[in-house]
Amino acid sequence: MTPEIKNALLGSSPSKQEEKTAPPSQPRQKKVNKAAAAPKPKASAKKEKPVQKKEGKAKEQAKQQPRQSAKQGKEKSAGTGRQRNPRGKQDKRSRIPAKDQKPVRIYYLGGLNEIGKNMTLFECGDDMFIVDCGLAFPDDDMLGVDLVIPDFTFVERNKDKIRGVVLTHGHEDHIGSLPYLLKQINVPVYGTRLTLGLVEGKLREHGILNKAKLNVIHPGDVVQMGCMSVEAIHVNHSIPDAVAFAIRTPSGTIVMTGDFKIDCTPIQGEMIDLARFAELGKEGVLALMADSTNAERPGYTKSERSVGESFDALFKKAEHRRIIIATFASNVHRVQQIIDAAVHYGRKVAVSGRSMVNVVNIGMELGYLSVPDGVLVDIDVLNRYPKDQVVIITTGSQGEPMSALTRMAMSDHRKVVVGPDDYIIISANPIPGNEKTVGHVVNELMKHGCEVVYEKMYEVHVSGHACQEELKIMLGIVKPKFFIPVHGEQKHLHKHMVLAKGMGIPADHILISEIGKVVELTPNSMKVVGTVPAGRVLVDGLGVGDVGSIVLRDRKHLAEDGLIVVVASIDAESGFVVSGPDIVSRGFVYVRESEMLMDDAKRLVRRVLEDCADKNVREWGTIKNRVREDLSRLLYERTKRSPMILPIIMEV
Ligand SMILES: [Zn+2]
Ligand SMILES: [Zn+2]
Repeated sequence: MTPEIKNALLGSSPSKQEEKTAPPSQPRQKKVNKAAAAPKPKASAKKEKPVQKKEGKAKEQAKQQPRQSAKQGKEKSAGTGRQRNPRGKQDKRSRIPAKDQKPVRIYYLGGLNEIGKNMTLFECGDDMFIVDCGLAFPDDDMLGVDLVIPDFTFVERNKDKIRGVVLTHGHEDHIGSLPYLLKQINVPVYGTRLTLGLVEGKLREHGILNKAKLNVIHPGDVVQMGCMSVEAIHVNHSIPDAVAFAIRTPSGTIVMTGDFKIDCTPIQGEMIDLARFAELGKEGVLALMADSTNAERPGYTKSERSVGESFDALFKKAEHRRIIIATFASNVHRVQQIIDAAVHYGRKVAVSGRSMVNVVNIGMELGYLSVPDGVLVDIDVLNRYPKDQVVIITTGSQGEPMSALTRMAMSDHRKVVVGPDDYIIISANPIPGNEKTVGHVVNELMKHGCEVVYEKMYEVHVSGHACQEELKIMLGIVKPKFFIPVHGEQKHLHKHMVLAKGMGIPADHILISEIGKVVELTPNSMKVVGTVPAGRVLVDGLGVGDVGSIVLRDRKHLAEDGLIVVVASIDAESGFVVSGPDIVSRGFVYVRESEMLMDDAKRLVRRVLEDCADKNVREWGTIKNRVREDLSRLLYERTKRSPMILPIIMEV
């Protein structure tokens, strides 16, 4: 772990006094996630930097220093989470009459009715905090746009109230916009080790890492956010170190699952902490917000481990050939299983693709990936080994144009040339919308003579999200009074609502919200009370938000019909044409084959300019508009196309 990740945990244990007065209903020790607790030599240094002393805001449960002191840790941390609350709000809560309790408001700034850019803001009195800050990738019609981030207008307006950002896990749709947010408001960030490891890389790229206030949390830790607090709960997902949150508010407890599945045989670490969810359910949960991604799929999501069994069979089938496997870089467990299979079959492993190299390095550094010595080899020296002794793990499972696998398919990879001696496995399903690009890559690989295993041919991929039966288990044990399905498109949210109704939650206790809506919760009610600015901000290169609908419309126009530039010089006195007009065409018609059309266009423009001069029309805007209109009409009549027309008229 690098020094930038500071630990926010209290280094000291609670006083004996506090321990004695601990109310019996306080939460007991949560299990320690093995992954999160992997002992690191540098861990002891963390205690020297208790961030919340500096911040004065964040108070967390003291629970630290893994395995060897686990038992001791349990005693220490039992019940400390909320006693440490300096204002004692939790204890007072029961004494405050319901009518005086501050309601809690939830602002959805992203992640509803869409897959991507998850961002939710909680408010109670003068305190606010944010859960996740993700990005979305642009649609096909957003030409030239690199990323889509949430609209931060509402956040900036309330920056003095915001106590921090908590992160559920390290996927782009949950952390990708964080650098853009922190550039606006530099609030403390809380996340698990792997999540912050991935965040660090992003902040470094943006040059804001040394200013950021990053705080590592573990499952079981409680972060105080003014009059609210957030407890992290271990869940399973397609990236290690994912957590759900139990959010304590004066109105009641809100459980937010984040992305999750129930994996009883995870590759590393423990199964989701269902016991904690059930305990919260027994205490009483005001509202549940749960992942709806797979709400349409019946049954259970298979364990990640089942993929390992498929790998084993496929490695056998590969025989003398080289194996190339494409998967999501963030799926550290999948990468681990590939490495395990490689070790078992005596193959060396090389890694290709920037994000894959990045994640493998972070995973090894933080102890989430275990790779025996000598297994990993540099891709540069791969050719020294016989084909049947190597495996390449690569990016490009979605057919992304610049990815390593796509480059291999297009014979554009500098180090890997594919052919009949290659056995290629695409260990991912195409994300809806990517089917075509993936298909294209598969076709190209096959043209080179490679054998390609993809999609449903073998079980080479399992989802990271809960299917219907798992969603029902979550609803059944959390037993929320109110239910808000989140993380999904309308059809997913709707299906999740149907599941909840089937579990006996009354229809008027379920709410499908929308981006920008404000949901208010009191101990007895849930309603929409307004809207705030929310939506998408487009990022193109270094420009954030400077690409709006007009720019997009122009790009679309250019892409569809091309561009015509008309250049002419006119006399400053008389307005008559001195030189030109010349016509330059890009992406419209091939000029050499359309000389007649171009000549007619020139004649038309000259006529328009002279007509303007005759009538003493000297206003620039008017002249340009007339050129544009008349030329546009001519071109449309002759070609049925409407290129963008750019008149450049100079006075000499
Ligand atoms: Zn995720
Ligand atoms: Zn997600």
